Formats: sequence, C-alpha cells, structure tokens
Amino acid sequence: MFKLRSCAMAAILCLQPACNESQDRDSLPSPAKRVVVTNTKLEAPAQFVTRHEVEKGSSMYQTLKSEGLLPQTILDLVKTAKPIMPLQDVASATTFEITWDGPERNTPLKLDLRYAADSSLVLERKGPGLEWMATRIEHPITVVQKTFHGFVSNSLWESAEFVGMDPSLITSLAEVFAWQIDFSREVKRGDRWRLTVEQKIVDDKTIGWGNILVAEYENDGQLFTGIRYPAEGDKAAYYFPNGQSLKRMFIKSPIKFGRITSGFSRSRFHPVLHVHRPHNGVDYGAPTGTPVMAVGGGTIESIGRNGGSGNMVKIRHNGTYSTAYLHLKGFATGLRRGSSVEQGQVIGYVGATGLATGPHLHFAFYENGVYMDPLGIRFPAAEPIARNQLSKFNLLVQNVMRTLPDWQLAQQDKPSQDTRPGDHDHTVIR
Ligand SMILES: [Zn+2]
Repeated sequence: MFKLRSCAMAAILCLQPACNESQDRDSLPSPAKRVVVTNTKLEAPAQFVTRHEVEKGSSMYQTLKSEGLLPQTILDLVKTAKPIMPLQDVASATTFEITWDGPERNTPLKLDLRYAADSSLVLERKGPGLEWMATRIEHPITVVQKTFHGFVSNSLWESAEFVGMDPSLITSLAEVFAWQIDFSREVKRGDRWRLTVEQKIVDDKTIGWGNILVAEYENDGQLFTGIRYPAEGDKAAYYFPNGQSLKRMFIKSPIKFGRITSGFSRSRFHPVLHVHRPHNGVDYGAPTGTPVMAVGGGTIESIGRNGGSGNMVKIRHNGTYSTAYLHLKGFATGLRRGSSVEQGQVIGYVGATGLATGPHLHFAFYENGVYMDPLGIRFPAAEPIARNQLSKFNLLVQNVMRTLPDWQLAQQDKPSQDTRPGDHDHTVIR
C-alpha cells in the first residue's frame, strides 16, 4: 500500500566507542594534544549508525524493510514499540537512527526514533537473551519570552511577515483586540504594534508558541494595550493596564480578515434586484469557506435555508440583541435550533447562497427586533479585575510592560511602501 524509500545514506557516521581520547589526555600536554586513533585497541566492535527518514507516502515498516531488516526483527520492533508509539502511526518525514553491529550492517542493535518534537522512542537489544526493550525519552520544552514589533505600511499581515513573525501569531494578536479593532476594515497605514509571546523551544528549535503575554496596537493614533491575566488557567483574559477588561459583549467582526464591501444603509441600489431598498446589514467580502463566528454568546433562534437570504443563522444574545448571518455555504456541524453558542465560535462558512452576486457574508444586527448598524454601537465591557486582585495585577503590568520592545524599533523596521508580499529583500526607509 505504501511505497517506502530508503533514506539517504549521506549521514552515515562511524562511532568508535573505544576511542581513547581520555587516555591520551594524561600522557600528552595540552594544548598540543593529538588523539592517536591508529593505536587504539578496538576491543568492542565498531558500531555503525545510519540515519533514515520515513518518506512521504511510505511507512516505517517499508523503510525498515528496505534497509534489509528481517521480517521477524521488524515484527519484534513493532510489538515492542506498541505501548509507547505504534510504528504504523509514525508520520512521514519522521527521522530515526539505527545502530548496527558493524559496517557490514548485519544486525541492528538499537533504533532511535524522534516521533514528536518533545519525545523519542528508543528500541534496544538488552538483557541476557538480547530481546528488544522500549524506552520513551522526553526532551524538555523550554519556554522563553520573545518579542515582535511591526509597522503597517500595506497590511497587518505584511508588517508581521516583514519582521519574520509566524502568521499564526498575527491571528493571536487580532484575537487580543477583537473587541477594540475590526481588523478587516480599521487597519490603517501608519499603525504600529508590539508584543511579547511565549516561545516553546526544544533542542534549540522553536516547536510552537504559547500565550501572548502583553500586546499593544496603535490604531489610527489610538493606542490599545492588552495584558494577559491571570497567567495560568483557562480563565485568563486580556485587560487594559487600568484593570478594565478588553472583552465586550460583541466582537467587532464576525470574520477575522474579511473586508467590508457594503455598509449599512437606509437606501441603496440592490445589485441583484436592481431597485433601491435599504441594506439592513453589513457585507463582508471573503473567499468561499471562510469561517464565520458568532459575535457574541447566545442561543440559535433559527438555522437553515431562508429564501433570498440563503443559508442563514440567527442568534438571540439576550432580551435586547440578536444577530443574523446570511448567504452561508454551510453550517458548522452539530448546530441546530436551540443550540447555545459562545462568542467567537464558528457557526458557518462564507458562501453565495440565496440572492448574492458572489461569496460574501451579510451580517445583520437587531436591537429589540429593529435593524441597527453594528458598526455604530458601543457595547458594555465585561467584568474588570477584581478589587482584591488589583495590587497583584498592577505588579504584573509593571513587569510585563518592561518586556516590550522599544517603539523606536518598529519605526526603524518599517518596510518600504512598494513592498510586495514575500519580498523580504527591500530597502528600509528610516
Ligand atoms: Zn448584504
């Protein structure tokens, strides 16, 4: 079923366990010490280590077979490995090493497989009967703080790309300020941002990112600061330095990075019906399949096909506010009338069902059953930091603000305005 390609042998290295470097240390004065290998008595046979990779479309079994391991040996390895890491589950591009009894590679003695960034499986022949034994080795994850800063010349995306920030962190940054800034329409040239994030490192390699600890975004001259508190636990949220919550009843956009193609209007020319009629909502242009989020928590009042509205979800948030999401391609699985949804939960995907000229989301907002312009309303904030936590919070604010990079750096690192995406080799304007 899988075709396995044996891995490159480029990295064969010879391990000589009997190398007598330490013996030489006593007899030869340093620093002129030379290791005389020719005199070494090789009492233990020289072991050979080969390095392999499970190719795409291949399997661990195939790889081992193509390396000449006997079927019985492979079966023994599979059985021994199973409680730690079933070898049939090893992903392609996984690398492993085999230690052999010698350069002839007659008998494998050990197999060392890095199956995850932080875990290895070691299979080794041990004991009197030289049977295979399995050991799991954990590689410790170090968490350090890393900072990034950017200056928006074209888009938020490019400003992050320009400074080499992982794209997933742009989304995280946008999530911190989802209640303050609509990143699909309010990002302006000249905006700047800076943040401190947890970086997870194993063996000097970044394996992922943790929480953003503090972030600042200056939008059209207005500065927003978000500080994560408490640092631990799933109750963590972002607060302004004065302890007020960034969180509001509604996030500012049901789509993360769309753009507004048509605003709320009491009368506009309808592109399909070709008549003047009110536009009772906001249109977001975005590719088909873009996730659509509930802007606030609530209960699904209706979900399904609804004439010219196409596939539509309507959510009741409380006695006053409701929202509706139209022209969806489809709905998130498991949702039905009466389901409760959380703020930011994906409820469906952008489409062009019903009366629509192309893929977009029509987002409608109701106050007491009357259409309102969602962009013109300011909503109450969530709970601030509790009074008895304020001194602890204030201390955290002081410490965490100090970790941010200087604004001056963001200014210096601004890309030229004709920078195209992916073009990292441009002059920096100062
Ligand atoms: Zn519309």
